[in-house]
Amino acid sequence: MPELPEVETLARDLRATVVGRKITKATVSPDAPRLVQDMPVEVFESGLRGRRIEGVSRRGKYLMLQLDKGLWWVMHRRMSGNVLRRPVKATDEPYIRARFRLDDGNELRFVDLRKFGTMWLTDDPEPIFAGLGPEPLDEAFTDEVLRETLKKRSTAIKPVLLDQAAIAGVGNLYADEALHYAGIHPKQPAASLKNDEVAKLREGIVRALEQGLANLGSSVGNVAGEEVSLRDHVNLNGESGKNQEYLVAYGREGRPCRTCGTAIERIKLAQRSAHFCPKCQPLRRRRKRTPAKGRARRAPAG
Ligand SMILES: [Zn+2]
Repeated sequence: MPELPEVETLARDLRATVVGRKITKATVSPDAPRLVQDMPVEVFESGLRGRRIEGVSRRGKYLMLQLDKGLWWVMHRRMSGNVLRRPVKATDEPYIRARFRLDDGNELRFVDLRKFGTMWLTDDPEPIFAGLGPEPLDEAFTDEVLRETLKKRSTAIKPVLLDQAAIAGVGNLYADEALHYAGIHPKQPAASLKNDEVAKLREGIVRALEQGLANLGSSVGNVAGEEVSLRDHVNLNGESGKNQEYLVAYGREGRPCRTCGTAIERIKLAQRSAHFCPKCQPLRRRRKRTPAKGRARRAPAG
């Protein structure tokens, strides 16, 4: 499922190939009735026709294409959405839900097995991003910012990392990776993290995301050797990312921890799976609450 590194990989691919191109025709398939948001499909299609792509950016897991006339074409890939750039005459892949013909003989194909992907055409994209938390790869995402977010949350840390209002762009895979790098159990209450743990967690988030980006994304659901495998993330050319080969926690249930050799465990947590090493990521017991006046000054265990 695309998260920040996969969406950023797509944004970079598009920036290198389609900026300056004009969209000559947009066609949404009738079998994707929920793809276009907030306007009739016909208005979306005619609104894109003739528009020039001026820039490509990303916010959280949203991809944004800046068009002329002050318009923004925003998309969210959700579970299985991919964008492919193909010559117009190239053979169709399965699951094409929309096509965007360009003035250079290519077209962008939105392929989406699960059909949860969504798109907008708007002159004001900000309401779409309302409530999104900070960008974790921005310099503004400091230990202090993360600490302020976590101290208000009494739930387990893992679901907090998945909350787009807490941090934008992190999903199930990179949350498991970040917690492993930080040595934090997914069930550890968010508000219980100490300052040094918050710092390690922020480092872990950045490390997991940057590694994903460097490997052009994770494609865990794709089948190696298949000519076009579209169950999970592919880049603009239809190629899988490589990050699945370097994962330390996600999807590694029963396999040895890369640090200590203990078998990675998988648990259900807030309706999602969480993967962790029970030795490297021990659950810290809650200390007994004591009145502030009499609070023990000794260093906490662990
Ligand atoms: Zn371990």
